[in-house]
Amino acid sequence: MDIQNTIQKLREELNLHNYNYYVLDNPTISDYDFDLKLKQLQDLENQYPEYYDESSPTQRVGGTITKNFKTVPHEYRMYSLDNSYSKEDLVEWEKRIQKVLGELPLEYTCELKYDGASISITYENGKLSRAVTRGDGFQGDDVTNNIKTIRSIPLQLKGNYPAKFAVRGEIILPFAGFEKMNQDLIEIGETPYSNPRNTASGSLKLKESAEVAKRPLDCLLYFLIGNELPFNSQYEGLKAARNWGFKVPKEAKLACNLDEVFQFIDYWNVHRHELPYETDGVVVKVDSFHYQDELGFTAKSPRWAMAYKFKSEQVSTKLNSISYQVGRTGAITPVANLSPVQLAGTIVKRASLHNADQIEKLDIRVGDTVFVEKGGEIIPKIIAVDLSKRPENSEPTKYITHCPECHTELVRGEGEANHYCPNFYGCPPQIIGRIQHFISRKAMDIEGLGGETVALLFNNGLVHNYADLYELTVEQILPLERMAQKSAENLVKGVADSKEIPFERVLYALGIRFVGETVAKKLAKHYKSIDALRQATLMDLVLVDEIGERIAKSVIDFFENNENVIIIERLKSYGVQFEVIEKINPNATVKLAGKTFVVSGVFELFSRDDLKKSIEDNGGKVGSSISSKTDYVVAGDNMGPAKLEKANKLNIPILSETEFMKLIS
Ligand code: AMP
Ligand code: ZN
Repeated sequence: MDIQNTIQKLREELNLHNYNYYVLDNPTISDYDFDLKLKQLQDLENQYPEYYDESSPTQRVGGTITKNFKTVPHEYRMYSLDNSYSKEDLVEWEKRIQKVLGELPLEYTCELKYDGASISITYENGKLSRAVTRGDGFQGDDVTNNIKTIRSIPLQLKGNYPAKFAVRGEIILPFAGFEKMNQDLIEIGETPYSNPRNTASGSLKLKESAEVAKRPLDCLLYFLIGNELPFNSQYEGLKAARNWGFKVPKEAKLACNLDEVFQFIDYWNVHRHELPYETDGVVVKVDSFHYQDELGFTAKSPRWAMAYKFKSEQVSTKLNSISYQVGRTGAITPVANLSPVQLAGTIVKRASLHNADQIEKLDIRVGDTVFVEKGGEIIPKIIAVDLSKRPENSEPTKYITHCPECHTELVRGEGEANHYCPNFYGCPPQIIGRIQHFISRKAMDIEGLGGETVALLFNNGLVHNYADLYELTVEQILPLERMAQKSAENLVKGVADSKEIPFERVLYALGIRFVGETVAKKLAKHYKSIDALRQATLMDLVLVDEIGERIAKSVIDFFENNENVIIIERLKSYGVQFEVIEKINPNATVKLAGKTFVVSGVFELFSRDDLKKSIEDNGGKVGSSISSKTDYVVAGDNMGPAKLEKANKLNIPILSETEFMKLIS
């Protein structure tokens, strides 16, 4: 088949799968098969750069770096919305409208007000051409490269779209993705993000689009604007946008009068908590474009639209006590213990107090009656104290000075929000937390051992650090609570099996502050062994791609602690992997030594990667483009015409797959 055609087919197919998955929430292909096809397309695009297309689904992974986002004017101004807080406000609004239009029956489109960062995206001839943040409404930042990584935003439209128009919507971070991001941060001992909206909005301005691509952002659309739109009302516009491939929430509804608007509001006031993303109100829009035109705009907002803000649910309850939790990294988190109270559909017993500054700022005291709110965060927070109910003998809260678990004096670094317990090796929750991290799935993945058992082992004096795990015996474990012969054996076997875990994951498992999965991979790849890493100076470390000073310092600190060094030596003696093992190929030869190959086309016997590997295994080198240094071209079907011409011109021998096989056999 014609290569261009194959590429085109793959792109269409992948676009459709992206659409099914990210817009319709209804995947029809396994992730594995999707990745396979994407890789196939990527390979073809690498091989035939002449068919590059900025709208290809391969462009979703990002890769651009923006130093400064360019400020650009909006072709159509991005207005704000007027706010209303009660049904009376909406009745008043309708009266104002009727003064202009006369007493007509009016239809309204009701939509949820999605809480994120607004965006305006221009499409030209069906292709995404530019995406700009709201900015001051007149001009915003060009964030096109970042926006293209968001899978639910079409790069290429479907159906009968106008030649040029802009679509507006909200970039959001659904709760599930937000929590996953925070979980990952907590795992490496970093402070979690405070709410989905700010995180979504911050994501748009990241310099590396590949980083944006990793974030589970989504885009919900609510408005089309342009010169020649093929419809006459907001509601029709939403339907058209949906047909062109945009994600327009199906919750939007057409109301025939204000009463139906109120029904919509009442319904979502309760049920919004069931949505997978944050909303902070309802937006009501006069449906007909004709009426919208007649109503026009005030200095700041359209007269034909109104936001109705949900009251963020608040309750008051009593603060019974403050407890202090110690994390794996020693960070102290104060937690408010409340008299249980119903809030936004759940019973709340605890609220986060963040840190000492927060307690001081709000002057929160035990015995106070406090107002609790559920905002963008999942854990509710205290927003104020009801001073009228403060007991007479109340005293300001004295933040703890010593660790609640090990009584060591706490420290607080310059500019740090949290207090820390510095007793790295003696503080039980830190020790247990570190071992729990060590055994976790992405680290040593020790089967047969869970977080609770770790605490049990520690509390019974059987382990004091993760190296001790490797000396556990079935006889030692058996007497523990709820431990049977089988589970004890599984635990010991699980620990032994973990000796096969590759170095990069061992490095992550050590729990060095700021060394998460990705950083561990980078360091392992660069240094190849723990000994080499240990020798590295601060200067060496910061020169490694993507390693900043903060990470580098943390690595140095880790090795300066002699106990860490002793533990690593012990782990080594048990056979845990502290070196990258380069896979040795038993079939390796030097038959192709000194020869450079270029691979082109599609093969029958080999995949392209296998072919390249086979060249390298036999001592040859693989080049990316044909030059005078090329010794052979291995060509499959559909070799690019430009390459063929070049090879002929330079008199480079062209081998078929079978000829290549003969060369190495
Ligand atoms: P505000 O920022 O409070 O002035 O509210 C106006 C903003 O609400 C707009 O700029 C949009 O970004 C956002 N918004 C969220 N959902 C909608 C919606 N369904 N229709 C219009 N605007 C919306
Ligand atoms: Zn402590």
